[in-house]
Amino acid sequence: MARIFDHGHKSTLALRRRKGFLLQQIDVPADLLRASVVERVGRCGKATCRCHHGGAMHGPFYYLTQCLAVGKMNKFLLKTEEQQMSARVGVEHFHVLQEQMEELSQINAELLRRGERLLPE
Ligand SMILES: [Zn+2]
Repeated sequence: MARIFDHGHKSTLALRRRKGFLLQQIDVPADLLRASVVERVGRCGKATCRCHHGGAMHGPFYYLTQCLAVGKMNKFLLKTEEQQMSARVGVEHFHVLQEQMEELSQINAELLRRGERLLPE
């Protein structure tokens, strides 16, 4: 669900200024990732291992998961700490961009509702 920005009570001038600010801020990060990093612990295949007898589980392991379509998930192990860090940063960069685009979209919807132009003349 999108975050709701409360723009309805702002003046059209204030909305246009906020829009200008957002357009200056928006930059597509080269490392963006629309994905999640998930942490898992698990049991191994050895029946005699501690993990099957109340001992500590293996892990944590970190996976990148990316939903491509309903029921179609791209998922793989992030083996190194560098991969894990790159994934976390890329996911964060995606969320920042997504939030900025969402706010821009909501401002544009409000401007349209007021009968304003969305593009400069
Ligand atoms: Zn085990």
